[in-house]
Amino acid sequence: MLKRNQFLIMSACAALAVAGCKQSDAPADGDKEAKAEKVAWGYGAEDGPAKWGDLSEDYATCKTGTVQSPVDLPAVDAAKTIKVTGNYGAASAEVENDGHGVKASFGEGFTLTSGENTYDMLQFHYHTPSENKIAGKAFPMTAHLVHSDKDGNLAVLGVMFEEGEANAQVQAVIDNIGKKVDIDVAAMLPSDMTVYNFKGSLTTPPCSEGVNWHVLTTPVTASKEQIAALNKIMGDNARPVQPMNDRAI
Ligand SMILES: [Zn+2]
Repeated sequence: MLKRNQFLIMSACAALAVAGCKQSDAPADGDKEAKAEKVAWGYGAEDGPAKWGDLSEDYATCKTGTVQSPVDLPAVDAAKTIKVTGNYGAASAEVENDGHGVKASFGEGFTLTSGENTYDMLQFHYHTPSENKIAGKAFPMTAHLVHSDKDGNLAVLGVMFEEGEANAQVQAVIDNIGKKVDIDVAAMLPSDMTVYNFKGSLTTPPCSEGVNWHVLTTPVTASKEQIAALNKIMGDNARPVQPMNDRAI
């Protein structure tokens, strides 16, 4: 179980392409993943989302997958049946720019409960602009909180950012890249935990499927300057929306 866990945590890391997450003792399953991580990818014309599926056979799911993320979500909230509870607070996080985005990693303690399932939070990271859209609308920024259950199944909670009041938690991240800092995860989220809930994938190579996706219907704010500062550091790091196919939301 531990090995399986390691493999899937690597997948989560791949979602952010976290250099620091590479594990030398990768299990058999992870060998493929480890190799896949060596093939460089990005968001440019030559190495961007349209090319990911061709860059490596290990990224084939980016091209052949049928439940890929992100997606354009409907305007009406159709996800009211799932009860989502976040057990988040303030804790020390390790902040880094891994070359694909800015990420804050946490130790144990924070959890997301979605229906019957409880997941431990591993990290959150930002995308500018948002990856998922709501009724065709992209937001200038999103944060993805990445979680894993004890068996290594992944769940992501996405929160959209609009331009508005400055966000103290976002500022703490911006000011502490490459360092440790206390971040209040709860303070970065809206009080209303209504979500869209749908099946999806990692939004970065290897685009592995089986991710339990949640996007909060209520956005939060960050200032124009904060969003611009993160975009300057990360560049545009959003995969375009993928076909919904016959997915239920
Ligand atoms: Zn993400």
